[in-house]
Amino acid sequence: MGSNLAQPSRYSRHEVLPEIGSAGQNKLRNARVLCIGAGGLGSPVISYLAAAGIGTLGIVDYDRVDRSNLQRQIIHSESTLGELKTDSAFQYISRLNPDVKINLYSVRLSEYNAIDISKDYDLIIDGSDNFSTRYLVSDVGNILDIPVIWGSVFKFYGQVSIFHPKIGPCYRCVFPQPPAPGSVPNCSTVGVMGAVCGTIGSIMATEAIKVIVGMPNTLISTILIYSAEDSNFERIKISKNVKCYSCSKPLEARTLLPSYQDFCGEVIGITVHDFETKRSINPNLVILDVRRPEEYESGNIPGSINIPSDDFLNQLLILDLDRDVELVIYCHSGARSRKCIREIEQLGLANVSILDGGILAWNSIVGV
Ligand SMILES: [Zn+2]
Repeated sequence: MGSNLAQPSRYSRHEVLPEIGSAGQNKLRNARVLCIGAGGLGSPVISYLAAAGIGTLGIVDYDRVDRSNLQRQIIHSESTLGELKTDSAFQYISRLNPDVKINLYSVRLSEYNAIDISKDYDLIIDGSDNFSTRYLVSDVGNILDIPVIWGSVFKFYGQVSIFHPKIGPCYRCVFPQPPAPGSVPNCSTVGVMGAVCGTIGSIMATEAIKVIVGMPNTLISTILIYSAEDSNFERIKISKNVKCYSCSKPLEARTLLPSYQDFCGEVIGITVHDFETKRSINPNLVILDVRRPEEYESGNIPGSINIPSDDFLNQLLILDLDRDVELVIYCHSGARSRKCIREIEQLGLANVSILDGGILAWNSIVGV
């Protein structure tokens, strides 16, 4: 049976709802939704939007499926362990609803690619797990005049809202400044109840469908806060900040920051221990030493390549690295590596981290 013949029965429970109907279902079929992250929140979002017959789903994620993801990231499975989450998501959606057009972006969303990736979508869903991406996505929504549905989870708690540039406040209106680096622990250190991701992600998908079909009473100008610990929902009204860095400006004056990770004080750093683990499991790991040649000669991490930071980009281009390659950069103590990582991102290499503390830290723990 052709997919067109199958469609009426597939969406009949939507079409029978007067608030959606066949007109609303057509809007869903014509909608283009970009989902940032195919993880804990992205999984339920992707599931319900694909099932709802969203015409085009874009998915941005550079990570691979790890066994510790499977407690909550329900679109992935044992059979896709080690695969890119985007590829795993593609397989899941294809099985669920082959009528959905899927665009995959296996990159880290950054200030260099975010506008390009997002510009052809009607709605962005932010299921990311870090502050720099949240500010970036909110600013992109404001620049492109696209609503952003935001959610976050932590232990037994979750929050959801819609940042609609035309109507309500944005993420920056509510949180003008990021928290101090390290002051908010992430889910990998404090944990999260997997089913809470399902609750919050399902609300995000629900709100997305409501926005697309034009239902009233959405979470625009409201943050919905859920506590699974108390089995309680709470609503907080939020309003536009007239001094907001982004949405208080006219559309044409809104710009991205040069670096969202700098703004949030985030560095994709790895510890010496994690670095040693990476080295032991990935024979193709590329290790770049960005110190001066004489520093490199005086002692380096075995297997590393010396590309001095003062001519970094040119020499890196000569290496002609594959975009999927996993890179670790180190210098003496970390400062030069941070400068180089910004240049690397311009090349579209996504899987890059910095060895925290540089060779100083490595020498003190591993040594040569
Ligand atoms: Zn704002």
